[in-house]
Amino acid sequence: MKFKRKLCKPCAEALKAAGTHTVVPVGDKVQKIDCFKCKRRRFGETYTVEKIK
Ligand SMILES: [Zn+2]
Repeated sequence: MKFKRKLCKPCAEALKAAGTHTVVPVGDKVQKIDCFKCKRRRFGETYTVEKIK
């Protein structure tokens, strides 16, 4: 299942590094977003996140 998630850079990198999900930027520009994971208002972008089976 694919999800669109707004993530800050550190969270996106952490999720990618964990190897449990694919994390692909949708191509938005980097802007101030409310990060889905850490709930902080930081610079980030929208990613398509998909769980790796
Ligand atoms: Zn975050």
